[in-house]
Amino acid sequence: MSPGRRRRGGAGAPGRQARPADAAVPAPPPPFDPASVEPVAEFAGLGLRAFTTTRTTGTYRLDGTDAVGDVVPRWHGLQTGLGVSRLASARQVHGAEVLLHAGGWRGWLRYDGADGHVTTVPRTALAVSVADCVPVFLAHPGGAVGLLHAGWRGTVDGIMARGLASLAAWQVPLDEVHVHLGPAICGRCYEVGPDVYHRLTGGRVSRPALVDLRAVLARQAGAAGVRHLSVSPRCTRCDNDRFWSHRAGDAGRQLGVIVSGSPSRP
Ligand SMILES: [Zn+2]
Repeated sequence: MSPGRRRRGGAGAPGRQARPADAAVPAPPPPFDPASVEPVAEFAGLGLRAFTTTRTTGTYRLDGTDAVGDVVPRWHGLQTGLGVSRLASARQVHGAEVLLHAGGWRGWLRYDGADGHVTTVPRTALAVSVADCVPVFLAHPGGAVGLLHAGWRGTVDGIMARGLASLAAWQVPLDEVHVHLGPAICGRCYEVGPDVYHRLTGGRVSRPALVDLRAVLARQAGAAGVRHLSVSPRCTRCDNDRFWSHRAGDAGRQLGVIVSGSPSRP
């Protein structure tokens, strides 16, 4: 920080202020450290990269407490580190809209208002931001992938079924799709009111009760025809030293990330 930034009342006469020699040169994106993430080990056998970032990687929230000038380079550093020409993300709205990413664009896509992504185009990275909500990773051995942001609203509104249906529409057989439910708030930490409890489980309670959001999503995946399902043992609240947690009062957000692969079959 230059001394002038701390001073109230403007910059004073141009040219009078001493500046660091590199002040006019934009800082390069911070390097992305693959060792700092929580990998989806279950997908390694499919030849697909998928992981959730951690506190160590820094927050990816664009409207949080970190300056946007610090967060945007972090996104660019992620794309550079992954070595992909396409990185899809969205401003998330706790809805159930899933974007289908065909070819025809390059760079970092920031769609306004969606919570899921699927693609069959190789070497496309998808990202969702989370901090207690569930990053839902979808992957087919042929290389097609999906990624969903599922909080209670998206879960109730059927984002799991929407994401799977989007893959099925591209002739991806759902009984061959692998689903992984990443780090999220666990069933011992996630307390909801009677109305939300009913909408998620169908059950009735008269006071706030605990819900395992990933168990609800797992049931939905099974009902849609998924046969390969895994669940991270990590809880964002229990493991709050490693992950951001909204319920723990954190403003930061980690990312779920998945990269599509090259088709191994026609
Ligand atoms: Zn927990």
